[in-house]
Amino acid sequence: MINTAYPPNRSLVLIGVLRGAVYFLADLSRSITRSIEIDFISVSSYAGTQSTGKITLHQDIAIDIENKDILIVEDIVDTGRTLNALIQHFVQKKPRSIKTCTFLDKPSRREVSVPTHYSGFRIPDHFVVGYGLDYEQAYRNLPYVGTLPSI
Ligand code: 5GP
Repeated sequence: MINTAYPPNRSLVLIGVLRGAVYFLADLSRSITRSIEIDFISVSSYAGTQSTGKITLHQDIAIDIENKDILIVEDIVDTGRTLNALIQHFVQKKPRSIKTCTFLDKPSRREVSVPTHYSGFRIPDHFVVGYGLDYEQAYRNLPYVGTLPSI
């Protein structure tokens, strides 16, 4: 779908949200057959298994995205606050279009309405780790997604 959604002569920039989206972006980008650019933004909102509701920007993108199509690549959309803040942030940089792509989606947890144009899997309200997702920076390198039973 992403392959055919954009005219081939336009610039498409995949923006991965560090650090959880690294594995997903690596796999996703290899399935895209058109020319793309890749950049990353670093934000945080979680402390342990709890969303703090406060989004902190640690490192912005380096690519100029003005007049380019951008696709924000997330590991998981939970309350929607992070994605909402990212969209507001990128709007200031005047891209041609903004779309979002998330590996996982927990719609039952949503507090802010955000567009998820491309979504891998809808999951129930469990805290998950693996395939890039962490608990206190651990478990990212698990080659599967699992839940932590006793936290
Ligand atoms: P939101 O702002 O939508 O509440 O949360 C988005 C961010 O919170 C994700 O990018 C991720 O870093 C973190 N997050 C939300 N749910 C989970 C989860 O179940 N497991 C992990 N490891 N991180 C989560």
